Amino acid sequence: MRYERSSSLFASAQNSIPGGVNSPVRAFKSVGGHPIFMRSAKGAYLTDVDGNSYIDYINSWGPQILGHAYSPVIEAIQKAAEKGTSFGTPTELETQIAELVCTMVPYVEQVRMVSSGTEACMSAVRLARGYNGKEKIIKFAGCYHGHSDSFLIQAGSGAVTFGTPSSPGVTQGTAKDTLLAEYNDLASTSAILESSAGEVAAIIVEPVAGNMGCIPPKPGFLKGLRKLATEHNTLLIFDEVMTGFRLSKGGAAALYGVTPDLVCFGKVIGGGLPVGAFAGPRKIMSHLAPTGPVYQAGTLSGNPLAMSAGYALLSELNENPEIYGQLEAHGRGLVQDIATVLCELSIAHQINHVGSMLSVHLCEEPVTDFDSAKSGDNDDFKALFHHMLSQGIYLPPSAYESWFLCACLDDSTHNRTIEAFRSFR
Ligand SMILES: *Cc1c(COP(=O)(O)O)cnc(C)c1O
Repeated sequence: MRYERSSSLFASAQNSIPGGVNSPVRAFKSVGGHPIFMRSAKGAYLTDVDGNSYIDYINSWGPQILGHAYSPVIEAIQKAAEKGTSFGTPTELETQIAELVCTMVPYVEQVRMVSSGTEACMSAVRLARGYNGKEKIIKFAGCYHGHSDSFLIQAGSGAVTFGTPSSPGVTQGTAKDTLLAEYNDLASTSAILESSAGEVAAIIVEPVAGNMGCIPPKPGFLKGLRKLATEHNTLLIFDEVMTGFRLSKGGAAALYGVTPDLVCFGKVIGGGLPVGAFAGPRKIMSHLAPTGPVYQAGTLSGNPLAMSAGYALLSELNENPEIYGQLEAHGRGLVQDIATVLCELSIAHQINHVGSMLSVHLCEEPVTDFDSAKSGDNDDFKALFHHMLSQGIYLPPSAYESWFLCACLDDSTHNRTIEAFRSFR
């Protein structure tokens, strides 16, 4: 494949945009080489500015669960745009999408819309703190909750320790209120709750981790967190920015039968437009301004274009829940065939899979937390990534990102993907 136009666009982008990208993982830094600039996308395929086409396993990092340029979503956006793009007043559509979220996620009684997953998580934590008057939060090493200060806390190895910031610009003062536990390790969570008794406002967790590859919760992990949170009078927040409306109508909470106190959404809920949301029972949500004292606001929150895209996509998912079973089955088929090929090639691997999320780790030991996720051979991953790209298969450009499947994948994309794996080495 030739990438001349991508290369020249990247060269000029680097002049006027830091690193040439508006979000770091797009820069291909962890796999090497230059990012590819896309021109358009339809269904399961991306087309770049040089005219190359790819089977897409990122789907905009999650939102495009029914494929790119999905007609009902595009039509909804077009119709909304003709009526005006933003009013700064309430609109009927905001109530309609809130009601739809409450229907699909039964434990949710009220929803507040924001414009990104970052905002959703940041605001949910503020609400938790305002609700129960405590200051600290527990997060898990390797979980990502957006880029707000409290969440940019390094994955230290000692579980029961204060976090240190993993980015310049995050103050020690902020970092000290974020306590780190190990994913899939209830004992580390319990130890922190004991040593910080009465101080923890919330435990925030990705119920299926998706930002260190895909890591499913071990049996009992989420139920155990639920029990610990209740015992310690702290709120359990599920960050379902990735998993919400992707793993089932009710997200991971419904899939695993565990109900959090608050939930954060993003990605799918916006149908490819910038949307996030946080939600929960009225008892907690009513603490938000203007009914309550916890301040939170947004000029473009509930924006009519974004709401129409989200509403169109969620409606399709609500009316066609069989999609989830189909995505899970497609994922299972891919996992089986990729595993077979990697065995034939004698390449050590671990493949994690939940529904329409999966990740291929090139390592010997099961990947269950951040430490084991880091054990993969990154040089092998780089080689695999670039090989697949050359075969027209677009994988996430990092070993720490989950693949996202969309409903447009079929036998033909499956077979091409497996053939591409077969020609690796
Ligand atoms: C993507 C993501 C976020 C951040 O969402 P943005 O819209 O990128 O701000 C937060 N939490 C999880 C689990 C995510 O995957």
